[in-house]
Amino acid sequence: MSRVAIVTGGTRGIGAATSVALRDAGYKVAAVYGSNDERAQAFKAETGIAIYKWDVADFAACAAGCAQIEKDLGPIEVVVNNAGITRDATLHRMSFEDWKAVVDTNLGSCFNMSRATFPGMRERKFGRIVNVGSINGQAGQYGQVNYAAAKSGIHGFTKALAQEGAPHGVTVNAIAPGYIDTDMVAAVPERVLEKIIERIPVGRLGKASEIARAILFLVADDAGFLTGSTLSVNGGQHMY
Ligand code: NDP
Repeated sequence: MSRVAIVTGGTRGIGAATSVALRDAGYKVAAVYGSNDERAQAFKAETGIAIYKWDVADFAACAAGCAQIEKDLGPIEVVVNNAGITRDATLHRMSFEDWKAVVDTNLGSCFNMSRATFPGMRERKFGRIVNVGSINGQAGQYGQVNYAAAKSGIHGFTKALAQEGAPHGVTVNAIAPGYIDTDMVAAVPERVLEKIIERIPVGRLGKASEIARAILFLVADDAGFLTGSTLSVNGGQHMY
């Protein structure tokens, strides 16, 4: 049986690597993106993976998008809440809009997507939800109160929903990536990046495929005893 998996932000970076890894493992994958049509179309052409466009910060759009995917592919059994953005600034310069956009996109999306898919998983007695947090949600980061708060919230959300899903065969886990070589990190100034890499014991940025591998592990059918956990994949940068 081929399970249906949604990956939000599934057309670029960590999400794209996850979509491909899931497809290669036999899942029917729907990759959701927000605005970059060019990259999404190129991804579809290259991989043959179905793409869907909506804003994951929009509750009604998530409900409608998930309903469409169920019509097209079948009941949704795996959700990877990966879509995320940064809008960095120190607090005294951060606008309300940048606070809200980051919280709504990174954390609100986990509620929106879970609300649309968790009831069906619960009824069918099987589901896997993986929420993508961050090392910066665990450790905090200068200039990122919005992002660190949203990612930290993801870790609490995960532990709470895991308790609700546990009696019904639905596991909920989080991944906390360290610094991964994607477009998001390409936006970090080079001298800052050099300093960051100096603090990574493995001595390099992570690869998107290394996060995808961990996500695949968490969504496996035989990972039913693994729930409410946060798997840190950060090259040894933050251990606790
Ligand atoms: P990228 O910036 O490379 O890709 C982000 C993806 O999310 C794109 O597909 C983008 O779509 C999608 N997206 C963004 N906003 C929305 C939205 N409102 N609605 C729907 N889709 C949206 O990100 P990464 O691959 O680097 O990061 C993936 C996740 O991992 C994020 O949650 C990030 O916070 C987290 N993370 C990343 C780290 C890193 O070092 N890269 C470290 C720790 C965590 P579109 O192409 O249309 O813009």
